[in-house]
Amino acid sequence: MNSLAVASTGTFWSGEEYDHWIQEFEKRRAEMQQRGTQAAHNALLRLGKRERAWRKQYIHTVANEIVDEAVDHECDVIVFEDLTDIRERLPHADWHHIWAFRRLVEYVEYKAPDCGVAVEQVEPDHTSQRCSHTDCGFTHKDNRDGEQFQCLKCGYEINADYNGAKNVGLRYMRKRQHRLRSSPTSGSADAPVDVRINGGTLNDDGYRPTADS
Ligand SMILES: [Zn+2]
Repeated sequence: MNSLAVASTGTFWSGEEYDHWIQEFEKRRAEMQQRGTQAAHNALLRLGKRERAWRKQYIHTVANEIVDEAVDHECDVIVFEDLTDIRERLPHADWHHIWAFRRLVEYVEYKAPDCGVAVEQVEPDHTSQRCSHTDCGFTHKDNRDGEQFQCLKCGYEINADYNGAKNVGLRYMRKRQHRLRSSPTSGSADAPVDVRINGGTLNDDGYRPTADS
């Protein structure tokens, strides 16, 4: 909602700076359009070019940080929500935000393999309404109120975007476990699969804090 990205590890990439600069570019553009001269028109073209370069650079930086976060936590995969239907799911979203989300996935997909990290996507259905607390999973639209998530069943309270990030990880974990079990040739059916979360890991047996926290 207010973040460009949120990782299950508890790291947030705020959208504030991005929004601030997009607004600054828009103000400058409006000023130049009012002038209406040829010089202003040329300046407008240069401004558009600078803005596009700035946006790309900004998203590249966030993408690099997301890949670093995965490497630091020894993750072998980064999972995103599938953004195919994002326009339908977020009908009021600014096109700058949709653009940013899509580019972010693209850039991470491009950079992560060089660091030995795969990139996957999962269905986005109800990841924001589902309770990510161990053994709960209660799903209801009223669990979420803007930035705040509070489970109507178990009372678990958490930032709504962070709750969604955990659910994306959990969904992928279950998908991968299912795939390992149903593939007789994989030979790694017992390979542990878990989600790195803030201060520990989460798997089907529950939450495990990291040794040093
Ligand atoms: Zn719950």
